[in-house]
Amino acid sequence: MNEPKFRAKQLFDWLHVKMATDFSEMLNLPKSLREKLGNEHSIAKVSEVTRQESRDGTVKFLYELVDGNTVETVAMDYERGISLCVSTEVGCRMGCRFCISTRGGLVRRLSAGEILGQVYASSKNLGKRINSVVMMGIGEPLDNYDASVRFIELITEPMGYNMAGRNISLSTCGLVPEMDKLAELKLPITLSLSLHAANDEKRNRNMPVNRVYSVNEAVGAAVRYSERTGRRVSYEYAIIHGWNDTDEDADQLRDLLKGTLSHLNLIPINSAGDKSMHATRDDAYRFQKKMLDRGINTTVRRTLGSDIDAACGQLRSRKIKADEVTN
Ligand code: SAH
Repeated sequence: MNEPKFRAKQLFDWLHVKMATDFSEMLNLPKSLREKLGNEHSIAKVSEVTRQESRDGTVKFLYELVDGNTVETVAMDYERGISLCVSTEVGCRMGCRFCISTRGGLVRRLSAGEILGQVYASSKNLGKRINSVVMMGIGEPLDNYDASVRFIELITEPMGYNMAGRNISLSTCGLVPEMDKLAELKLPITLSLSLHAANDEKRNRNMPVNRVYSVNEAVGAAVRYSERTGRRVSYEYAIIHGWNDTDEDADQLRDLLKGTLSHLNLIPINSAGDKSMHATRDDAYRFQKKMLDRGINTTVRRTLGSDIDAACGQLRSRKIKADEVTN
């Protein structure tokens, strides 16, 4: 725009430190420049539609985007600070059978600004700094590769929000080419692979992506990621009572993960209305014991916000249903 260099720095500071949502706020820029910016550009806006607060301090936001679509963002209060779970897409096209977020398919991908907007809006709404981010909300981040990477670059920018890369996790259902592409960038973030089954027959059934990239291919890419980046990979495994928690499953999972730089994270499946899939925390603890006995580093994920349906997809799907009723 033929402006002096220092204006770029001022603008960046307004966007990423002061988290301005409108160019008119940027009072140290000349009025003419503010107007020009306003005419030629826009700041990705996410606005709070509803907020649910759990007894345990978890806050779940439903955010509306400029085109009226909505996404969910969940803030979890841990001892080490606020961890924010962000969405990367409106809906999802991966089709995992147990996941609510994918039921209506993919509506559209979010821009990097809209992912970032969830962090900034939550930071302002809570009046607190966000300490860590998990890209585990609605959507498949690696199916929105460029925006997800751009988001990570911006949120970790020292002149901006300056979040530590090690405080960011990106979760994928296992898009192998993008996992390899990400490894090449050597970003200091944690990669999580949603595994949920240890053989192709079972994984095919619940995760269509497995028909394209098998269990061995997905785990292979995760191992390459850890070799390339030196970082421990996290494997997500949602326990489904009686289906993926047998001794045979534990043996197969051990064979996959043994000797890799990894961490296994168990989650009791959220049955989300489907009674054929369920699990209790005790089921998860029982399977944890099996894995620990087999020498695999395993934890059971804390459950937060269960009284507000904090698991992703639930608030958005209710809003869509409510809109259908009123329209
Ligand atoms: N698409 C990415 C990130 C979003 S899903 C991925 O697949 O990893 C975030 C996590 O929630 C994934 O591990 C996903 O498998 C899990 N998940 C989805 N539905 C679930 C359910 N009903 N119960 C437990 N975990 C679920």
